[in-house]
Order: sequence, then structure tokens, then C-alpha cells
Amino acid sequence: MADIAADSAEHAEHAEHAEHAEHYDLIIVGTGSGNSIPEELNDRKIAIVEKGIFGGTCINVGCIPTKMYVYTADVARELTEASRYGLSPVNPGTGEPVDQPQWRIDWDGLKERVFGRRIDPISRGGEEYRRGDETPNITLYSDVARFTGDRTMQIGTGENGNATTITADQVILATGTRTWVPDVIAESGVRYRTNVDVMRMEQLPRTMVILGGSIIATEFAHVFSSLGVEVFVINRSDILLRKFDETVSSRFTEVSGTQWTNLLGRTVTGAREHGGLVTVTLDDGREIDCDELLLAQGRVPNSDLLDCAAGGVELDDDGKIIVDDFGRTSADGVWALGDAIAGPELKHVANQEARAVFHNVATSDEFDLEPLKHDNVPGGIFSHPQIGYVGMTEAEARTWAEKNDRTLTVKVQEYSDVAYGWAMEDTTGFCKLIADAGSRRLLGAHIMGPQAATLIQLLVTAIEFDLDLVDFATKQYWPHPSLSELVENALLGLEFE
Ligand SMILES: Cc1cc2nc3c(=O)[nH]c(=O)nc-3n(C[C@H](O)[C@H](O)[C@H](O)COP(=O)(O)OP(=O)(O)OC[C@H]3O[C@@H](n4cnc5c(N)ncnc54)[C@H](O)[C@@H]3O)c2cc1C
Repeated sequence: MADIAADSAEHAEHAEHAEHAEHYDLIIVGTGSGNSIPEELNDRKIAIVEKGIFGGTCINVGCIPTKMYVYTADVARELTEASRYGLSPVNPGTGEPVDQPQWRIDWDGLKERVFGRRIDPISRGGEEYRRGDETPNITLYSDVARFTGDRTMQIGTGENGNATTITADQVILATGTRTWVPDVIAESGVRYRTNVDVMRMEQLPRTMVILGGSIIATEFAHVFSSLGVEVFVINRSDILLRKFDETVSSRFTEVSGTQWTNLLGRTVTGAREHGGLVTVTLDDGREIDCDELLLAQGRVPNSDLLDCAAGGVELDDDGKIIVDDFGRTSADGVWALGDAIAGPELKHVANQEARAVFHNVATSDEFDLEPLKHDNVPGGIFSHPQIGYVGMTEAEARTWAEKNDRTLTVKVQEYSDVAYGWAMEDTTGFCKLIADAGSRRLLGAHIMGPQAATLIQLLVTAIEFDLDLVDFATKQYWPHPSLSELVENALLGLEFE
């Protein structure tokens, strides 16, 4: 009874706030992909709500800064491996060879290059633009938003009486995800890093333990191991990049083991701090000390902050906001996009969804809605070696072929068998193509090695435009002896019916 009375009192209070609330045409929650507001909405009165750094994950703590660090790491690794190309460091005074050359990592300079000169000014500039005279139709609220009713949101937690209620005809939820913190770490109370602060550490640690074995974990393992940190990657499954094609995951696991220490098939059962170090205990009883512990085991949606039930917005079992093909949630006039909804958690996908949803919000024609596109999504993994992928894994293709009574053709072309691979002295890279032998259409492509994330675009084109692979291989020029010959030779190696 008491609960019901409290609920209805709260409901009455929210209704009263909503009555006096500022009303907008559109509320956008989240300034990552949610901030790409098209010109066609310039005549709308818009509220943007952001609880964290303006600009969201990709620009501030995700894709862009990580890849700027990755590039430094790539160069550092090339320098240490320069002798493969006949380049040997010598002492400039004597001309004598230096056996183990050392490179000083200017960590403060690196942070300044990435954040001081690039990222932070962009974030600041973006926020100033939204607050300034150039976007007079937009009001930016810097606080957390949650639903208190249909298209009615409270901005701020309400502590110290600082909450505001706003309403709108339409709402876009672009609230993204955050790092998952395993219970064993949360309960232990040890200090840890995530993608949010690891790139801004005061100093480079001597040792780092990374929990996780997928994209974010392997990218940071590359960055820090290449910068001279002793890295331990602890992963529950026996293989890294488990969800990717089996040739990619098995070869990557093998090669990465020469760059950092992989402790695979292991879980963390405890953690403690002592003498300035963090010690993690594994399920086999082993203890690993480290200066820094980095969590990269997965991400959880921020939907729990939104009180979606109060807004009539349904979530799936993973906490992702359920949308239809056009980005509509279960609540009338409420849309969602990006990492907040199910689908690949990738920025180019979030961008496509944002274009579609903003168009759908802007149009008044129900037959003019643009769909979200989740097929043929490529991705890059900027670890070492680099990886690019699109389409089915071989295991998925085998299941598909069995179900549809089709025959597969698979070709694995090594970098070491093409001229540019010789130039690069590459011994581990490959391009794997999986195709339908009858229709000569590509089903999946997986590249591991230098420039993989760029080379994969050739195969995105082939798969997206449903190209005949024989025509694709033979009716155009491939500049000799570029790395694109890797793809050409892989195509020529497929055996069609
Ligand atoms: C380390 C790392 C590296 C990555 N590298 C790549 C890469 O190389 N390539 C790639 O394609 N993708 C990469 N990604 C993924 C990519 O960053 C995301 O897919 C993309 O940024 C998602 O955009 P979004 O707009 O959905 O969410 P976000 O950019 O995360 O924006 C969500 C925003 O909503 C705000 N918010 C959440 N809840 C509320 C609330 N209740 N009230 C107010 N504000 C709220 C958050 O503070 C946040 O700013 C990477 C991610 C990480 C973490």
C-alpha cells in the first residue's frame, strides 16, 4: 500500500513538473552519433542532453584516440624490427652496431599530440558550437536524462534540487555503452583503468594486465606492448578474437603470443592491492602483479540510466533498446540508434543509423522512412597484426551452405606469396575468401596483416554490389606490385563450378 501511495505521489509530482516543462520539437540524449543533426532540422527547437564529455565515445575515448596511439605503436614496432629490412642501428660516434637499440617513449608528448592538439579542442569546439549563436534552435543540457513519462524527461538527478523537466514531440536515444566491470573486480575494490582514462595515465606503467580478448583488449595490448610495457592478456576462452573467423582467431592468437603474454582459458577469481601494485589471482591459483589493470571484457548499455520503463521504451535481455527496421522504439515518437540498440558496436554503423533516424524524424511521410542497414558491415581491428573483415566466417558459411544446398570455395592467400609481401618481409599475414562456388559470389572475407583494414574495402565493394568474382578479378587492372595483388591472387585462387 505504502509503495502504491508513494508511486502515485511521485507520478503526480512528475505530471505537475511536465505541465510547467520547457517543450521541444525534439530531445536528443547523447552527443556521440546523436550530435550529427542534419540541416533539415534547423527549423526545429531541439534539446540535446549529455551527461559526460561532449562528442561521445568515438572522438573522445574510442576509435580516434586509440588509433592515434596505435599508429605510434605501429611505428615503434617497425623501428624495433628494422633489421628485417637491412637497417641496423649504429652508434653515431663509432659506427659500431648497437645490439639492442632503445627508443625513448615521450608519453607526455604522445598525450599532447593526441588529446592536447587534436581531441580536446574538437570536443570543446563542438560543445561551444552547440551553445553558441550559430545553432540558436538548440539548447544543450550537461547532465543525465531519464524518462519520467511519455516523451517527458528529467534532466539531472534531482539532488540539491537541480533537476529540470523537459518534454518533446519526439525523442532520440543515442546513449551508447560503457565498460563492463566484472563483479570480482568491483567487489575487490582495486583500482583499475578503462578506455576512458588509460590513454591519459600520468606515466607509462612497467606492467599491465588486460582483462578481455576481443577488439578493445587486443588493440590496447598492441599499443602498450609496442611502447615497452610488459603486457599480460587474461582471457576466459582459449583463443583471442573468438567471435571472428577461425583462421583469424587461431593465427592471431599464435602471432600475438610473441608480442605479449597471453594467459588463455583463465578467469580472475580475486584481486587485491599491495605495495602500489594490483595483484590478480587466476583460477589456477597463479598471481600476476601489475602496475595497471585495464578492463576490456565487454561493454554494457547505458539504458539503465534512462528509466526506459517510465517512458514506455522496451529493452531486450541485454539492456539494448528494441527498435524496428527504422529505429522506432516501442514508445510512440521515441527513436534509438548506435550502440544503444542491438547490432555491431561500430562507429560507421552508428553513423548510418543516425542518418536514417534523423531523416525519419524529419520526414512527415510514413512511406519515406529510411531503414537501418546491418548487412555487409565491415570492421577493422587495429592490433598487430591488423585485421579487416566483412561477411560470414567460414563456420557461418558452412552452416549457410548446408542449409541452402550450396558448395563453398575457400582460398587463403598468404602475404608471403605476393611481391609486396616480400617487400614487407611478412611471414604471418593472409587474405581468406569464402565464396559460393556456383554463383561466384563472395560470402566472407578476412584479412590479417599490414593495411588489412584498408584492403578489406575492395571486398566490401564486391560483396555489397554482388559482383561476379571472376569478372571482379579479371576485368579490371590491379596495380603491380601493390598489396592489392594479395586480394587479386586470393580471388584467382577460388575454384568455381
Ligand atoms: C576503446 C574503443 C575503441 C573503439 N574503436 C572503434 C573503431 O576503431 N572503429 C569503430 O567503428 N568503432 C570503434 N569503437 C566503437 C565506437 O566508438 C562506437 O560504436 C560509437 O562511438 C557509438 O556511438 P554512439 O553514438 O552510439 O554512442 P556514444 O558515442 O558512446 O555516445 C553516447 C553518449 O550518450 C551519453 N549518455 C548516455 N546515457 C545518458 C543519459 N542518460 N543522459 C545523458 N547522456 C547520456 C554518454 O555520456 C555518451 O557521451 C570503439 C569503442 C571503444 C570503447
